[in-house]
Amino acid sequence: MNIAHWLLDAAQRWPTRPALFEGTRQVADYQGFAARVRARALELRQVHGIAPGQRVALLMKNSCGYLELLYAIWWSGAVAVPINSKLHALEAAWIAGNAGARLIYTDHGAVFDGLPGDCRELAAPTQDAAVAGDQLQAPHPCLDADLAWLFYTSGTTGRSKGVMLSHGNLVAMSLCYPLDVDPVAADDAVVYAAPMSHGAGLYNFIHVRCGARHVVPESRGFQAEELFELAQALGQVSLFAAPTMVKRMVEQARHQGYAGEGIKTIVYGGGPMYLADLAQALDTFGPRLVQIYGQGECPMTITALSRERIADRSQADWPSIAASVGRAQSCVEVRVLDAAGQPLAPGQAGEIAVRGAAVMQGYWANPQASAATLVDGWLRTGDIGCLDAQGYLTLTDRSKDVIISGGSNIYPREVEEVLMQHPEVFEACVVGEADAEWGESVVAFVVPRSPASLDAQVLNQWFLARMASFKKPKKYLFCAELPKNSYGKILKTRLRQWLQDPTEPLA
Ligand code: AMP
Repeated sequence: MNIAHWLLDAAQRWPTRPALFEGTRQVADYQGFAARVRARALELRQVHGIAPGQRVALLMKNSCGYLELLYAIWWSGAVAVPINSKLHALEAAWIAGNAGARLIYTDHGAVFDGLPGDCRELAAPTQDAAVAGDQLQAPHPCLDADLAWLFYTSGTTGRSKGVMLSHGNLVAMSLCYPLDVDPVAADDAVVYAAPMSHGAGLYNFIHVRCGARHVVPESRGFQAEELFELAQALGQVSLFAAPTMVKRMVEQARHQGYAGEGIKTIVYGGGPMYLADLAQALDTFGPRLVQIYGQGECPMTITALSRERIADRSQADWPSIAASVGRAQSCVEVRVLDAAGQPLAPGQAGEIAVRGAAVMQGYWANPQASAATLVDGWLRTGDIGCLDAQGYLTLTDRSKDVIISGGSNIYPREVEEVLMQHPEVFEACVVGEADAEWGESVVAFVVPRSPASLDAQVLNQWFLARMASFKKPKKYLFCAELPKNSYGKILKTRLRQWLQDPTEPLA
């Protein structure tokens, strides 16, 4: 099934229900939403020559137009490639090229100097499509296994990988939401405070299915004060937020004496939530929090920790339950495996593996990475954790060394590659350091070719010309040598230890 059928169905059942909002202003009801999508899908076909199965990329900040374009892409049978709008143009161009995208919509147009292949850049439309015709009254027929969303995640090899999510994956993921996360009602309002190219955008489907309201803040991003105003004006608001966003919401709420009025649910995930922060969030907002654990390869749907379990601090096991990521969601099985790929007993830590209907089809044009990650039908997540006897999963480490800063994943290798391109850098190694505001921040250990040839300002400029600024190291530590093992491999664990206790020599 083409997931765009959910929009057609909602428009037929509830044509006049409010659908799209910019701030508190309604911009479309469900019949208007579907009509715009259909016209845009025809435009993709007739004006831009997009055929079913072809890829169309989006490099845009959140907007109602973003949702319309996504659905138009699916309605026409094409594949959406949402790209993090904070990426550098060079990074976005690489993704568009890797995906073989025919079109890339950008907020303003003229973002790129050049694009690979026959990819064309288009400014995101500001007016309704003027194309009419009898075709595509219903979404293009698709099978469950057909590709719907190429989700680009950063790779440990330094290059993004395109996670292939099918229509069936998206349906399975969405149906878990009311079962495992939060029931959805027609008067709910899902607010897109985090980027639509990621988790927040993936939560659109179930809200379309239930005919709920979709709200893009006027700031097109996350501002706690604005969010609180929206919640009070619209009511029944739910949103997906990284733990660092929840922390900022708590600070702002305390500052202005706000206690969560109008917010139904805050779904947090994407990075670790520290217990002290969770306790403060509960003190501030009450029982409005639900946790999910997922990854692009199994979007939003590995485990969930329920509102009730999070909120009930009277239970003796609250600290361990609240520090966990909850239990397997309805469409997946979760296991913890040893190094040989055998399931481990409760309480033992190993690699988390997942199997089920939400698990990706593989990585786009990357059979090697697909084979290494999907083994015997199980997705190897690269996360380390353990299950308890009741099926609660606790994450203990990340084997992929990813740094999660402000909810965004940053892969050290990618940052190291850019550092190593600088002629004055002899060696470099990047690790994450605990950071009260961002969860983690990027620290670069740099060995310069000659002493005093480099400073932080020079490297900052180097980064800004090549990479998204959120990946730029927050701190540079210049040293004469890096600690290595007998194979010459740099010891990242030693670097992390040193950051906690710099009294011992580094190498
Ligand atoms: P992404 O593919 O960008 O969604 O990142 C997925 C990674 O984020 C996972 O593999 C985990 O390492 C981490 N992650 C996701 N959800 C949680 C959570 N609830 N708690 C801790 N880490 C998480």
